[in-house]
Amino acid sequence: MGATRIDGNACGAAVEASLAERIATLPTPPHLAVVIVGNDPASHVYVGAKERACARLGIRSTRIDIDADADYAEVVSTVERLNADPEVNGILVQSPLPSGMDEIAITDLIDPVKDVDGFHAQNLGRLVQGDASGLLPCTPAGVMQMLDWANVDLSGKRAVVIGRSRIVGMPQSFLLAQRGADATVTIAHSRTSDMAALCREADVIIAAVGRSNMVTSDWVKPGATVIDVGVNRVDDDSERGYHLTGDVHPDVGEVAGALSPVPGGVGPMTIAMLMSNTVRATEMQQ
Ligand code: NAP
Repeated sequence: MGATRIDGNACGAAVEASLAERIATLPTPPHLAVVIVGNDPASHVYVGAKERACARLGIRSTRIDIDADADYAEVVSTVERLNADPEVNGILVQSPLPSGMDEIAITDLIDPVKDVDGFHAQNLGRLVQGDASGLLPCTPAGVMQMLDWANVDLSGKRAVVIGRSRIVGMPQSFLLAQRGADATVTIAHSRTSDMAALCREADVIIAAVGRSNMVTSDWVKPGATVIDVGVNRVDDDSERGYHLTGDVHPDVGEVAGALSPVPGGVGPMTIAMLMSNTVRATEMQQ
C-alpha cells in the first residue's frame, strides 16, 4: 500500500492520554450510563468495547439491560431516571432499538448536557448554528480528530461525504464545512448520479454507506485522503464465519495519499470520542 495509514488506534490512544489528564483534575470521576435494549449481538460487542474504554480511563460505567420485549414506557422511564440522577453524567441508549421503538424520540428525551452520543436535536442544532464546542456525534467528530492528527489540510479543499445519515453523513458534512475546517463539501447518497466522477474530483472522501468495498481505486484522485467509516460483515469460511470490511476497496491504498483502515480506523476513534464527550459532559455539569 502506497498510502499513509491513518491509524485510529494510535490517534485514539492520544485522545485517551489527554482525557486522562483532564479526568485527574475532576472532583469526582465521570459516570457513563449505557442502556441496551434487547440482544443484538453487535450491540453487545460495541457496549463491551465502551465499557473497557471506561475502565482504562477510570470512568465509572453502569450498564442497564432491558429485555427486547419490554414496554417502550420502561425505556422512557429509565432515561428519565438517569436524567434525574445527579451521579450520572452521560447517558447513551445503544442503537438499534427493537423495531417499533422510536429512536429519535428516545434521543430527544435525554438531557442535552448528558447526551454523550451528541444526537439530541439541541446538540445537533448547535452544530448547524456553527457552534462545534458542545457534545458532537462521536463518529464524525472522530473523523475530524483523525484528519487533524494526520495533518490533513482541509481549508479550501473539496470533500465528498458519501452518506447522509443523521448519525454520520449529515453531521460529518457540517463539521467539514464549519469555520476553521473550511472544506467545500458535497453530500452524496443513493440518488447521486455518477458517484465515481464526483469522487475523482475530491481531495478528501469520507465513505459512510455500509456497502462493502464500494469505493474503488478508479474513483480516487491520486494523493487524495480517504476515510473509511463503513463496517460490513462479510460471510466467509473462517472459524468465526465472517470478516469485517469497510466501504473502501483495499486497492484504494495504491492511489490515495492517506487511508484509514477497517478495522483499526474510525471504530476506535468513535469510542475515544464517546469518552471525550463523557468527560466534557462531566466538566459542564461539575
Ligand atoms: P445508514 O443510516 O444506513 O446510511 C447510509 C447512507 O448511505 C444513506 O445516506 C444512503 O443513502 C447512502 N447509500 C446507500 N447506498 C448507497 C449507494 N449505492 N451510493 C451512495 N450512497 C448510498 O448508515 P450509517 O448509520 O450512516 O452508517 C454507514 C456505515 O458506517 C455503516 O457501515 C455503519 O456500520 C458504519 N458506521 C461505523 C461506525 C464506526 O464507529 N466505525 C459508526 C457508525 C456507523 P440514502 O440516504 O439515499 O438512503
